Amino acid sequence: IGLIQRGTGAYLRIDEVLALPEEPAQRPGRGTPCASPAPGTPPATPHAPAAPALELTDIHFGYVPDRPVLRGATFTVPHHGLVALVGRSGAGKSTLFSLIARLYDPDAGTIRFDGLPTTALSRGQCREGIALVDQNTHVLEGTLRENITYGALDAGDDDILRVVRLTRLDPVVRRLPGGLDGRLGDHGGTLSAGERQRIALARALLARPRLLLLDEHTSHLDAVNETALTRALSAVTRECAVLVIAHRLSTVRHADRIVVLEDGRTVASGRHDELLTTSPAYRELATTHVLRSHASEKTWEKASEN
Ligand code: ATP
Repeated sequence: IGLIQRGTGAYLRIDEVLALPEEPAQRPGRGTPCASPAPGTPPATPHAPAAPALELTDIHFGYVPDRPVLRGATFTVPHHGLVALVGRSGAGKSTLFSLIARLYDPDAGTIRFDGLPTTALSRGQCREGIALVDQNTHVLEGTLRENITYGALDAGDDDILRVVRLTRLDPVVRRLPGGLDGRLGDHGGTLSAGERQRIALARALLARPRLLLLDEHTSHLDAVNETALTRALSAVTRECAVLVIAHRLSTVRHADRIVVLEDGRTVASGRHDELLTTSPAYRELATTHVLRSHASEKTWEKASEN
């Protein structure tokens, strides 16, 4: 009876997902999912190598009419660059991610991937090269291998070990009885928050994206995990461009560029030291614990040397 009850509960949850409406082909109005390209739009051409991986120009957007969330967001993410997006809660950071992933279209402004405007691409083409790691890092009952590969079940050991190394999961592999095939158990309850986050990162990187969108958690990471994440991010830029919604000083300090978003507008961009002197908005974020730090600089410097 217990099994039937659990099965029924699971079936109802799956059925909720299956019953969701499909994304409409046309976008009827604001705040609704985006449209496919107009009939007759030529297929995507090979990307312009000189163009940045991602370019946003004067983006305006609101979920509902007359309540703008984005009011002029402009920035680029170069190929193999690490760009950190920072701003207070409600500034519009996650909304920007939704637009980049084409869950919505902007009301005004242009988003370009490798120089191509998203309006010239289908949703599928836009998403093909993007991996998104958001705040919900799910670890499923099963082995570490299964958790890394569940989006790419035919991935070989070489590829799996590549992402394990990139995301600094080697200590977890060594620690688990059975290594990659060791069971995580209890939905990853025995793992730290940082390890769960890096499993989600490894899963995303298996697909070899050209652009990684990462929403860093606000949750506490200890010094070891914070250092592991920072090192993983700088290693990941060897493979793709990274745009991270940053909540940690350790991430912004090592970003190639920081973009400051205030009330839906980009108000400053540059490197950490530079922004501390030139941008009052950034200085406030960095000094009022909106950007957190748990790792000491010493730990980072020591880790960087290895
Ligand atoms: P946080 O750091 O707290 O995650 P954020 O900078 O990512 O904040 P968003 O989540 O993009 O901010 O939210 C920006 C504004 O848009 C907020 O006022 C929020 O209430 C609103 N908003 C977000 N998602 C929706 C939605 N699906 N429908 C309507 N309003 C939304």
